[in-house]
Amino acid sequence: MKDRDFVNDFEAKVKNTIKKYNLLDKKDKIIVAASGGKDSTTILYLLKKFGYDVEALYINLRLGKYSDDCLQAVKELCKQEKIKLHVLDIKKQFGMRMCNIRCGVQEKIKVSNCMVCGIVKKWLLNKEARKLKGDKIVTGHHLDDESQTIIMNFLQGNLMLGANSGPITGSVKDKKFVPRAKPLYFISEKDIKKYSFLKKLPVVYEKCPCAVSSLRIRVREFLQEKDEKIKQNIIENFLKILPDLKGKLLKEKLLYCKICQEPSRNEICKKCELLDSK
Ligand code: AMP
Ligand code: ZN
Repeated sequence: MKDRDFVNDFEAKVKNTIKKYNLLDKKDKIIVAASGGKDSTTILYLLKKFGYDVEALYINLRLGKYSDDCLQAVKELCKQEKIKLHVLDIKKQFGMRMCNIRCGVQEKIKVSNCMVCGIVKKWLLNKEARKLKGDKIVTGHHLDDESQTIIMNFLQGNLMLGANSGPITGSVKDKKFVPRAKPLYFISEKDIKKYSFLKKLPVVYEKCPCAVSSLRIRVREFLQEKDEKIKQNIIENFLKILPDLKGKLLKEKLLYCKICQEPSRNEICKKCELLDSK
């Protein structure tokens, strides 16, 4: 396929996902969770190109040079495309860098680096997007991420963990909860890499230096050598059972965490369970 055809095909696929799953509206204020990596940079660039009202939100996790480089990449794209950028400093939020937050948690419980970071990021994104009066949060999650998550939940014996996933979350409506959309849901990591490269987007291609020895990495390695069709099958078959999972979720009440007052499925949210556990 010629490069120009690849680019057109890629953009049409993203537009199609947005339309088919009714992910975004031109009237929405969209907060793109921008990490400086290829996935979120690509979707930020594309949504702006498609004419959406987008702003970027970068969480500075203070992981040394890696975080500095990522911030630089996000700044560059936002300047180039005239996108408003918000930067949230983890140190200002929690008084310490992500590594210290993680170590504190790992002294008490056995949990992977990515798990702690993921929970803290999700909590911060929702809180900040709400503060910015965002109607939707957009992340760069793609086909490879999503098929990995489904297999991980399955291996852990809890497919219900994925009940709030799919191309858009938010089966449970709540004024404190900002729905999260994933317009790259059906697109492979390989194609995103190619697109970002062809468009010469400012991107940090290295992986996070702290992403070591998690279940996700083992599942990623297992799926990596598989055909793309297999990953497509995993998410397509998951989407068939998703309405049932969402139905079950709707029966559960959405609560507000007793400690931080943020929306949660339990009395104490996952972030507070990790950070405030004695
Ligand atoms: P990850 O959890 O690193 O796999 O990233 C998944 C998605 O979360 C990315 O595609 C981004 O949309 C978002 N994200 C990750 N890290 C950050 C960050 N430091 N700041 C803002 N958004 C982020
Ligand atoms: Zn909480």
